[in-house]
Amino acid sequence: MTYILHLAPASLSGYNTCAKATDGCKMACLNTAGRGGMFKKGENTNVIQKARIRKTKMFFENRETFMALLIKDIELAIKQSAKINMIPVIRLNGTSDIAWEKYGFSYNGMEYNNIFELFPEIQFYDYTKILGRKITAINNYSLTFSAADGNDNDVTKAIMQGYNIATVFGIKKTLPMPETYNGLPVFNGDESDLRFLDPKGVVVGLYAKGPAKKDTSGFVKYPTIMLQAA
Ligand code: SF4
Repeated sequence: MTYILHLAPASLSGYNTCAKATDGCKMACLNTAGRGGMFKKGENTNVIQKARIRKTKMFFENRETFMALLIKDIELAIKQSAKINMIPVIRLNGTSDIAWEKYGFSYNGMEYNNIFELFPEIQFYDYTKILGRKITAINNYSLTFSAADGNDNDVTKAIMQGYNIATVFGIKKTLPMPETYNGLPVFNGDESDLRFLDPKGVVVGLYAKGPAKKDTSGFVKYPTIMLQAA
């Protein structure tokens, strides 16, 4: 059971939650996919957008309350999942790219280096465009590097560092993923969101969704697909 925290991406809240956001990814961001992008006629915001902005401001302005609420929510997720015999897994950067490993806090009189330390039995995972995040010692946090417009050099370095590369392809869902991309085998990342279970050394192919379907910035990649004759 995946639980996702959605904050306001890039600088929408007045605080930057995506240090390596690109023009293309900001345009194609999942922040306005699904219900987050449904606005009443004549309006350009909704309760979902307002909640994401409110939570993001709380993260930067009142960290103690934010962390207390986050912990409460994670505890609720654990209980809720247990009731239906599911394993909870958590993505904290649904629409942000915060280096959670850097944010320590105190809880019940104890100091924790980060949220992962408080819940060692829970698997956390995220996508990131930030290279060099210090997570190797954190066994319950998995990161997949995200390709975007203009971050080819970082993608090359990320591959060398052993990351899988999430790549959004501008192909219809009815078409198969390309077999390889950038010299790596492509793994269909849309069959499940459980990135920590992916094989290593792959491009995680994702079909373009929401505003990404119209992207021309270079964020969405257009591979050549060889179709086999029937
Ligand atoms: S880095 Fe990710 S969350 Fe941030 S704007 Fe780009 S796509 Fe959205």
